Amino acid sequence: MTEPAHVKAAQATWHTGILISTRRQSRHARTLTFRVPGWTPHLPGQNVEIRLTAPGGYSARRLYALAEPYSPDRVAITVDLLPHGEVSSYLVHTMRLGDELDVRGPLDAGFSWDPEHHRSTRRPLLLLGAGTGVVPLMSILRARDRTSDRLQALLVYWARDAASRLYRTDLDAPGTDVEVRMRYDSPVRATPGSTVRLIDPDDLREPAAWQGRADPIAYVSGPDRFVDEISAMLLDRGYGDERVNLQRFGL
Ligand SMILES: Cc1cc2nc3c(=O)[nH]c(=O)nc-3n(C[C@H](O)[C@H](O)[C@H](O)COP(=O)(O)OP(=O)(O)OC[C@H]3O[C@@H](n4cnc5c(N)ncnc54)[C@H](O)[C@@H]3O)c2cc1C
Repeated sequence: MTEPAHVKAAQATWHTGILISTRRQSRHARTLTFRVPGWTPHLPGQNVEIRLTAPGGYSARRLYALAEPYSPDRVAITVDLLPHGEVSSYLVHTMRLGDELDVRGPLDAGFSWDPEHHRSTRRPLLLLGAGTGVVPLMSILRARDRTSDRLQALLVYWARDAASRLYRTDLDAPGTDVEVRMRYDSPVRATPGSTVRLIDPDDLREPAAWQGRADPIAYVSGPDRFVDEISAMLLDRGYGDERVNLQRFGL
């Protein structure tokens, strides 16, 4: 997708974000919400770049998925602590309300879900995420919740274990009309020179209620190996490129 000039300009500009609220998601993860005056509207699925600068001038930058659909002047991210992680340890453990950092975005429109566009196609949403890959998928689900004619949605979420599962309150909320399949254990385990497939192809099975509907559209996000594995499996299931959206988080 080619970005218009005003979007490119917004992406290049660093804004100051002030931390205004936090919400614990697991022992090692929390959602941080920043007030960012002048933030350009974003779609669920897009990312933001965060920059931390130490008093001596050293700075570190990292990408995070936007955890909430657009609200004026608000940016929310959900960060999971990585052992010895430079930026995640600051965001999860150190940063306090009123502290500031720099944010830039919204970035990566290629993975976004536009409710207006998808309302006309009526494609059910097949959301497949591992680890913090669930963050942009949750943002898509929240945007879907704001629509009057909610599309059918299935979330398959691979978490390391129950303790590291994110968004428990949202996903377990009574009355939710999203089918959630939780899977524990690392979905793809690396061995030198190869990977061992741990994903059961049946995990990708569309619910019976989707029979006779428009072809589903898939959003896959998480570690690179997970995304590669799932995209190959979707191809096997007959998903063409136009129905598969991929977001790689690295390692
Ligand atoms: C498009 C995109 C979206 C992302 N969205 C999120 C998000 O919503 N929430 C979130 O918590 N993170 C997200 N990340 C990961 C995030 O950008 C950082 O990589 C992460 O927070 C680690 O940064 P750090 O400075 O704490 O770790 P570092 O100090 O950079 O690394 C610490 C240790 O962890 C290893 N490591 C680095 N990155 C990863 C990784 N991605 N997975 C496993 N091990 C790693 C390093 O090799 C090193 O050993 C996203 C990454 C990308 C590319």
